[in-house]
Amino acid sequence: MSHSFDALILGGGAAGLMCAIEAGKCGRRVAVLEHSDRLGKKILISGGGRCNFSNIHCGPENFLSSNPHFAKSALARYTPADFLALVEKHRIPYHEKALGQLFCDRSARDILEMLEEECRAAKVSIFVSTQIQEVSRAAGFVVRAGSAEFRAPALVVATGGLSIPKIGATSFGYDLARQFGIKIREPWPGLVPLVLSACDRSDYCDLAGVSADVIATCDGQQFREKMLITHRGLSGPAILQISSYWRRPRPIAIDLAPESEVTAVFRDPKTQRDVATLHAEVRKMLPNRLAERWIELHPPAAWTNAALADFERNTHAWSIVPAGTEGFEKAEVTAGGVDTDELSAKTMESRTVPGLFFIGEVVDVTGHLGGFNFQWAWASGAAAGRAL
Ligand SMILES: Cc1cc2nc3c(=O)[nH]c(=O)nc-3n(C[C@H](O)[C@H](O)[C@H](O)COP(=O)(O)OP(=O)(O)OC[C@H]3O[C@@H](n4cnc5c(N)ncnc54)[C@H](O)[C@@H]3O)c2cc1C
Repeated sequence: MSHSFDALILGGGAAGLMCAIEAGKCGRRVAVLEHSDRLGKKILISGGGRCNFSNIHCGPENFLSSNPHFAKSALARYTPADFLALVEKHRIPYHEKALGQLFCDRSARDILEMLEEECRAAKVSIFVSTQIQEVSRAAGFVVRAGSAEFRAPALVVATGGLSIPKIGATSFGYDLARQFGIKIREPWPGLVPLVLSACDRSDYCDLAGVSADVIATCDGQQFREKMLITHRGLSGPAILQISSYWRRPRPIAIDLAPESEVTAVFRDPKTQRDVATLHAEVRKMLPNRLAERWIELHPPAAWTNAALADFERNTHAWSIVPAGTEGFEKAEVTAGGVDTDELSAKTMESRTVPGLFFIGEVVDVTGHLGGFNFQWAWASGAAAGRAL
C-alpha cells in the first residue's frame, strides 16, 4: 500500500507531534510514523508523571550545544508563553514550582491528550506500531514500513535520543543522519546519576538517602540545588544538572556549605577547638550523618588557623572524579547528536539535503533540568512545522 503526503514525520514524541500540529495548521498533509504502540510515551513518564512541560525563565543559557547560539532563533519564535496559551486553551490545570518550572496539576496525560486533540483538529494522520525498514530519496523521500510505503517531498526526523531504551529510544535518528552524510556529535547521557569509584563508594554510599544543598561545579558551569547520595554514587538535581557537563576524567567540585563559613566560630578565642565544636558547626550545613562522615574522612590536620583554613577550603571544594554515570538506561536526556552546523537554525532543515529536517532531542541541543528539554522539543518542532 502506498501513501502520499506533503511531509512525513518520523517519531511521535513531543517534537514530532508539535511539528505535525504546526504543519497541519498551515494546511500541509502530514503523517506521523511511530514505532511504539502509542504516541508520547516519554511525555507520560515525564516530571514524575506530572510533566514539567516548560519553564517560564527559558533562555539560550539553559541549553548545552556545541553552538550556543543555534537554539536562539527557534526558542524566540516559540516561547513558553506560546505553549502555555495552548495549555490554557485546553483548560489544563497547571502550577509553577520552584525556579519557573511548569507542571500539570493532574497528570502528564493531559499534555499528551492535548497534543493528540490538536493533531486531530489539524487533520494529521497518525500511524503507530510502524516499524521503519528503509528510508530512501529519489524524487522526494520514500519510507518503507512492512508492506506500506510512504512518500513525501519532506521528511522530519523526530525520533529522539538514546535515553531510556526500554520505552522505545533508538539510534535511528543518528543512523539516518549518517546515511545522508550528516555529521553527528557523539551522544552522551545527560541529566544522569553519577557512579562513584569503589573507594568513594565505600566511604559514602552507606549514607544512601542523605541529601544536602550544595553547589556542584564542572567545566565552568555550576548549579546550586540538592545533592542526594545513592547506593552507587550521587544524584539529586545538582548532580543531574552537572552530569550533562561532565566528561571522563574531569573532576567535579562540590561545595558542601554554600555561602557559609563553617569554621567562623573558631575566630573567637573563647571557642573550644575540638571535634565536638566542629561537628556542631558542620551540622548546621549538612545532615548529621554526612557531617560526621565528612569530619571523619577529612579532619583538620591540627587545630591551628592554617589547618582550619584548609578544612574550610576542602568543605567548599570536595573534588570527586566519578567512575562513570548510570548510562542511557537512567539518563533523562541525550546530549550531543546531529551537528547544528548541518542545520538551518530557523527551520531545522539540513543544509545539504533539502527537505530533510531534524528536531527535538536528536539535535545537539540539550536542556537543563526544569522543563527546558520539552521547550526545545516544542520550539524546534514548531520551527520545522511552519517551514514545511
Ligand atoms: C524519565 C524522564 C523524565 C523526563 N521529564 C522531563 C520533564 O519533566 N521536562 C522536560 O522538559 N523534559 C523531560 N524529559 C526529557 C524529555 O522527555 C525529552 O527531552 C523529550 O521527550 C524529547 O522529545 P523528542 O520528541 O525529541 O523525543 P521523544 O519524546 O523521545 O520522542 C521520540 C519518539 O520517536 C519514537 N521512535 C524512536 N525510534 C523510532 C523509530 N526507529 N521509528 C519510529 N519511531 C521511533 C519513540 O518511540 C518516541 O515516541 C524526561 C525524560 C525522561 C526519560
